[in-house]
Amino acid sequence: MIGTIVLFFVGLFFGHFIPRIPWLILPRFKSWNSQFPQHPRPIPVDEFLIQRVLHMRLMHRLTWLFILIPLLFGWASLKYGIVSIGMGLWLASCWTLVNKLVSEIGGHPLYPYALAEELQLIRNQNQTDSACCDFPLPVWQIESVKCSSCQTVLMERYRPDLGRPRSDGRLKGLFRLLLTDGYPVIGRTPYVQSNIEPKPMSSEEE
Ligand SMILES: [Zn+2]
Repeated sequence: MIGTIVLFFVGLFFGHFIPRIPWLILPRFKSWNSQFPQHPRPIPVDEFLIQRVLHMRLMHRLTWLFILIPLLFGWASLKYGIVSIGMGLWLASCWTLVNKLVSEIGGHPLYPYALAEELQLIRNQNQTDSACCDFPLPVWQIESVKCSSCQTVLMERYRPDLGRPRSDGRLKGLFRLLLTDGYPVIGRTPYVQSNIEPKPMSSEEE
């Protein structure tokens, strides 16, 4: 009986883990992150960040493909092998499928194309007269994109997982990502395109 329960949980874990392999593992290689400051430090808004947002978008989309693996193995286990593993695999991957459908169809994807566009707009604006200050240095902090020279908030959006190796260690970081699915732990609000006009930060916002 205990063996059956353990196998069911093994199936659950792999059913949850396998569809997420592309974005959990691939972007976290050291060579892919040499241009970024270490997690969780603020990340400069530059061409590398925009490219990373687009890469993360693609890797999260690969979930649709990778989800077929636990579904297929789950089906094979249910039919020919260990039913408890098969049940776990199916339950976890179907849950992932529903989650993914809700976020995509519901219009709240984690890395919408508009996000990359908005980051590019922030970069463009900094090269014009309407820049927030003389030496604009936009960085994405945990809760918003701010100019690190003048502290103006340029985009109010909590920073999602950007594929950097986690500062809390590989295992703990992996566990946290599996739980949060890459969403910011705080402020899991859907992405809303904000007004690009810089807003001076009031003292209450500190
Ligand atoms: Zn500034």
